Formats: sequence, C-alpha cells, structure tokens
Amino acid sequence: MSEVKVLKNYINGKWIESRSTEMVDVVNPATREVLIHVPQSTKEELDRAARAAQDAFHDWSNTAVPKRARILFKYQQILMENKEVLAEIITRENGKSFNEALGEVQRGIENVEFAAGAPSLMMGDSLSSIATDIEGTSYRYPVGVVGGITPFNFPMMVPCWMFPMAIAMGNTFVLKPSEKTPLLVEKLVEYLEEAGLPDGVFNVVNGAHDVVNGILENEHIKAVSFVGSKPVGEYVYKKGTDNLKRVQALTGAKNHTVVLNDANLDQAVKDIISAAFGSAGERCMAAAVITVEEGIYNDFIDRLKNEAKNIKMGNGLDDDVFLGPVIREENKKRTVDYIESGEKEGAKLLMDGRERTSDEGYFIGPTIFEGVTTDMEIWKNEIFAPVLCVIKVKDLKEGVWIANQSEFANGACLFTDSASSVRYFRENIDAGMLGINLGVPAPMAVFPFSGWKHSFYGSLHANGKDGVDFYTRRKVVTARYKTPDFSEM
Ligand code: NAD
Repeated sequence: MSEVKVLKNYINGKWIESRSTEMVDVVNPATREVLIHVPQSTKEELDRAARAAQDAFHDWSNTAVPKRARILFKYQQILMENKEVLAEIITRENGKSFNEALGEVQRGIENVEFAAGAPSLMMGDSLSSIATDIEGTSYRYPVGVVGGITPFNFPMMVPCWMFPMAIAMGNTFVLKPSEKTPLLVEKLVEYLEEAGLPDGVFNVVNGAHDVVNGILENEHIKAVSFVGSKPVGEYVYKKGTDNLKRVQALTGAKNHTVVLNDANLDQAVKDIISAAFGSAGERCMAAAVITVEEGIYNDFIDRLKNEAKNIKMGNGLDDDVFLGPVIREENKKRTVDYIESGEKEGAKLLMDGRERTSDEGYFIGPTIFEGVTTDMEIWKNEIFAPVLCVIKVKDLKEGVWIANQSEFANGACLFTDSASSVRYFRENIDAGMLGINLGVPAPMAVFPFSGWKHSFYGSLHANGKDGVDFYTRRKVVTARYKTPDFSEM
C-alpha cells in the first residue's frame, strides 16, 4: 500500500475523507515525486458542502461588516508571517521558482488586504431628494453561496481573487481547487481557522469534472467564479448561466508585446525574458508573441538569444533557478508537438527548448521562433509553456493589427518612449490588461482584472470594484417622508 496521504475535503469546519475511490496523483513536477493523492469527489459531496455553506449563510451575512473585516485583518497577519511556508508549497506542487512563488503569495495577500476594507467597499449610495419629499438609498447585500473553480498555475493567488472578497461581502464559499495543485489550500484553510472564521463559511471539495458540474447544478450556489482554459470556461459560463447563476469566467490568452524603435532595449529584453519564460510560460499574462519594429529587430534578437541562453533551469527550490518544469508530462509533450508544428509550418527556430530537457522532471528549455505568421498554429493557440514567437513589423500599427487578429485579448504590452505611441496603443489594442514598459500587466487587487474577447466570459471582472459588484446585489429604497412645514406652527 502506498504511504502517500489522501487529501480530504473541508466541509463545515471539518476535514472529511471523500467517499470516492478514484484518485489522481499530485506530483512535484521538478522531481516526479508523488506528494499526495487527490480524490475525485462526487456531486453528492459537493452538494453536502453547498448545503453547509447555505446553512452558514444566515449568520455570516448578518455578522457586522467590521467584524467580518477583522477576521480578514487577522488572516492577513497570519499569511504575512507564513509567506515562506506558503511559497515553498507552491514551488513543490507547481514547479515555479521560489521567488516567483513568493511574488504570488504577496499578490494573494494584497487581495485579502483589499477585501478587509469591506466596511467602506460595501457602502451604498444615497440621494436626499429624488422628487418632492422623496429620497433614495441603495444598500449592498451578499449574493449567497459562491462556487470557485481554479486552475493549476496560481494555487494561492487565484483562489485569493475570489474567496476573501466573497466572504468579506457576507457570502459563504465552496472552492474546487485544481486537482494538479490542491495542496496549498490546506494551509489557506488552517490559517482561516486560526483567524477565527466560523464553520461552514469556507468549504473545499477536491476533484475535477463531477465537482465542477455539481457547482454548476447546485440550487444553493448563486454565483460562480471560474479561472482556467477557454474551452472549460466557455462550458462553465454557458452551463452556469443556463442554470440562472451569476458567472464570471476568466479564460485563456495569447498575449502580444510590441517593441518600438525608441524602446529602452535593455529593459525590454530583461522584462520579456521574464514575461515569456518565468513560471515556465504558465501564466495567463505570459508574453507569447513579440512584434518588433524593424529598426531594432536584429539588435533585439541578438540580445534576446543572449539572455535566454543564460537562463538557469532546475528545481525552483534551488538557488538562482529561474525556469522550472511545466506541470505534467503531457504538457511537456504538447510543447514538443508545438515546436515540431512551428518548424513544419515554416517558422525559424532560433532557440530549441528540446535541447534542454531533463527526465528528472517535466523540463523543457526556452524556445524562440522568428518568422511567425498569423496562420500558424504556434501563433493561434495558447501553448502555455516557455515558447516565444517573434515577428518583425514595419511599425506600431502593424504590431497592433497582428495582436488584434487573435481570438484572445487578455493582456498586451508596449515598449516605447513615446507618449503618442502609448496613446495609439491604448486606444486601438484589444485587451483587458495593458502594460507600458513592463513585461506583465499583473493583476492588482484594487483594479479589475481580466481580458476581452475569448479571454473572458461574463461582465464583471475579478478584483477591484468589479469584485465588490460581482459578490453583492443591491437593494434600492425609495422613501417618502413629508417635510414638516414649521411655518404653520
Ligand atoms: P483548466 O481549464 O484545465 O482547469 C481549470 C479548472 O477547471 C480546474 O479546476 C479543473 O479541474 C476544471 N476542469 C478542467 N477540465 C474540465 C472539464 N472538462 N469539465 C469541468 N471542469 C474541468 O485550466 P488549467 O490547465 O488548470 O489552467 C491553465 C489555463 O488557465 C490557461 O488557459 C490559462 O490561460 C488559464 N488562466 C487564466 C487566467 C486569467 O486570468 N484569464 C488566470 C490563470 C490561468
């Protein structure tokens, strides 16, 4: 019998063994070590968690908002004190470097900090005089039970886009973490308990498709936050809204970066290396296509190759490692298939990641193509691996035109010294998140985060005021109070 533990579900304040006998291995992608088995929980188990969340909703939604916020303040402190513990778990289950993991933890904590502002964020509006003797006031209320479905690439940050704000607003929550990286959530739960969160407010059901379908069908779950790939997001959005739930689905990407002749090339190359190959390219904001103005093209390519060849690969827990493994063997194989397809379709391979693989884990080196065109599979599809496509362009207009041919529109970046170029880019590019002179337009807790086109389904994005709106519904009171006429007295 295996010594490896089986992950439990967290329902109504207790860790409970799943009844499912179907298991998936959670593997350290840098070493192939099996860290834990994750049960493929059933729809009935999800229903049980949703029931617990529904039962907890009355008391929690009636808990004074500052009291809810105080729990989040405490939670923030505990998370701050345990940043390294959290980052190490992320590196072990996801493979990204320890530094990247620390950055992720910090971003997650910022979401908790923002949500702790619930007393001001939840305030409504009022107007003392809408008509004679009539005033209007709007109040915010929680939506009910919220379901969260998260991807493998940010085991801490993405759940933290969802549950801190949802519970701060008075909702209760059921999370289904990625079955590939479900370990970190155990710690998130442990610290929530330490912060004093009442039982039933936050629940976790591990698994995959059946749990997702359970969330989409459960009568108690009123809103669903999804982050993951485009096909699954589309399915979740359609099925969730069909069942009359409020759904936000943040999905796939193919992010374009334009580098102009007047860019600071040192900065651009350094940032693009980090944006394309950091976290092994497994970021929804990863730089996937770089369009470079012809005046600096050769210089850019020389510098890019130089930097990329010095990238240190390995286990993310080792010092100075920048590029870790991709998440699973099939992701590595898929990446190799894309490299082959790029070559077949006529792109020129400037750096071949297949030359830097290692069987110790799912490693594949940085890969750079040039001469890529918009009819190639490597341009069209999200590869989600350390593969970068470079295209020479005449000018900014062509760079923006190419980016706008993509079905995705998550993020886009521009490197330039010119304000008018920034303005043109901002007004014409299709993307939800723009970066100017930086490689990754990273999510910030206080701003809404998401893409356009097939990178997002729904209307309210994650984070910022959109997060507040998504996790609340409004009640407007219109009231008539006859103004006393003191002149008659
Ligand atoms: P995924 O779509 O495979 O999985 C996401 C979640 O959906 C997981 O919890 C998984 O268990 C579940 N799931 C997977 N297949 C399912 C199915 N057939 N039916 C029901 N549920 C299913 O995504 P992933 O591989 O974990 O993550 C990578 C993807 O996430 C990339 O496409 C990336 O761009 C995207 N992503 C997007 C953002 C964003 O903000 N737009 C952020 C992070 C990741």
